[in-house]
Amino acid sequence: MIRELHEQLKNGKITSVQLTEQYFDAIEKKDTEIGAYLTITKKLAMQQAQFVDDKIARGKEIDLIEGIPCAIKDNICIDGVRTTAASKILDNYIAPYDATVIKKLKECGAVILGKTNLDEFAMGSSTENSAYKVTKNPIDTARVAGGSSGGSVAAVAAGSAVWSLGTDTGGSIRQPASFCGVVGLKPTYGRVSRSGAIAMASSLDQIGPITNSVEDAAIILSRISGQDLLDATSAKSSDKKYEDYLTGDISGKTIGVPKEYVESLEGEIKNVFEKSLEKFKSLGAKIETISLPHSEYALSTYYIIMTSEVSSNLAKFDGIKLGMRFDDELDSAAKENGLSKKLLETYLDTRKIGFGDEVKRRIMLGTYALSAGYYDAYYLKAQKVRTLIRRDFENAFKAVDFIYSPTAPEVSFKVGEKSADPLKMYLSDIYTITANLAGVPAISFPIGTISTDGNDLPIGGQLMGKWFDEEGMLNCAHTYEIN
Ligand code: GLN
Repeated sequence: MIRELHEQLKNGKITSVQLTEQYFDAIEKKDTEIGAYLTITKKLAMQQAQFVDDKIARGKEIDLIEGIPCAIKDNICIDGVRTTAASKILDNYIAPYDATVIKKLKECGAVILGKTNLDEFAMGSSTENSAYKVTKNPIDTARVAGGSSGGSVAAVAAGSAVWSLGTDTGGSIRQPASFCGVVGLKPTYGRVSRSGAIAMASSLDQIGPITNSVEDAAIILSRISGQDLLDATSAKSSDKKYEDYLTGDISGKTIGVPKEYVESLEGEIKNVFEKSLEKFKSLGAKIETISLPHSEYALSTYYIIMTSEVSSNLAKFDGIKLGMRFDDELDSAAKENGLSKKLLETYLDTRKIGFGDEVKRRIMLGTYALSAGYYDAYYLKAQKVRTLIRRDFENAFKAVDFIYSPTAPEVSFKVGEKSADPLKMYLSDIYTITANLAGVPAISFPIGTISTDGNDLPIGGQLMGKWFDEEGMLNCAHTYEIN
């Protein structure tokens, strides 16, 4: 889709201003019902579009993504734009700088339509944890878009952005992509700078693209990846154009299917998944059953490491150092006792009012796991199991080129269906969290649909690749997609 729009812009079939206006019209028509956007950046978008049109008029070359409208998850900072992470505590926060990915996109001439909804601080699997609104699935608005990048994904699926950026700590790009029938890519940990993304769990977070095709995901990855001195965990850049590696040939490649992931699959999902295996075979790939023996510990390991990092990363939001201050609830005793009590009350009230239930739950769990006396039993143990999970992947990748499974164990569920039961919600990420724990790249792409309540609800397949083998993994998914 990006390539076609690029051709149209270059050939003067449409201007960037016209294209951008079309997308704002789509947002106006659809977004009241879908709820993908939190903030619209119309002035910025129109300026960017006009700049590109002027450049084209002067006969200058334009980049592939130049003049093409996109949306940005609202936990990624854009200079001068409200950035809430869908939390009340950042309700009035205007970012004072651009995240590195935004700097890069601006240099390429991307047009930014607005900021999209998410689960508060990216914690959730349905975008129901947003402090502002629930994002609906464009295919069936009684159902969730998935999460936490639900807004970014719904915007692309509804046609109210050509592509978008999300963040993925345990599946937040891939699971909603699977629910809404689009492509979502989590790059290798370290491939894309996290500078300027509001941290959830720093050893797991990655930024990645959500698109209509695998090729589009490759195009965006080429433009946002690379080493960045502002993120010490970003890896040395290889300056690849990933789109140049999409040969459409995967003959002789080996795809491993982890038995631990698929043995419990049943019903329609199983059928769709098995059909997709047949398709990979018909494209010349070899399918092998493999084992990732520590998979059963992945969810508990994730929920200890992630919550520990969350409790530490979110400590700064106290109404004094960072975040909106809620201090009108002081009792008179606190006032009489002077500053120290008042300061503590301010912290407590701010965090009590500013954070939602799921965020508080995770801060408490993480604080507990890190506290003296429990650190060895929980956090340290979880780090050790994480190493075992990573080794499972190292061993598997000695024998196979890619690892493949469904992205999620289910299709999109109904709004409200799981919101009262956090554990049920956590299970939605069972296949996606291991890629974050191991740090490998992973992509979700549509492999079929299941007819439910009169709608064809999409299912995604997830390919995981070797560390820094995005080009191989993207080529494999692309080959599937074009055939
Ligand atoms: N759904 C997962 C969670 O709730 C993953 C979130 C994410 O990737 N940001 O933690």
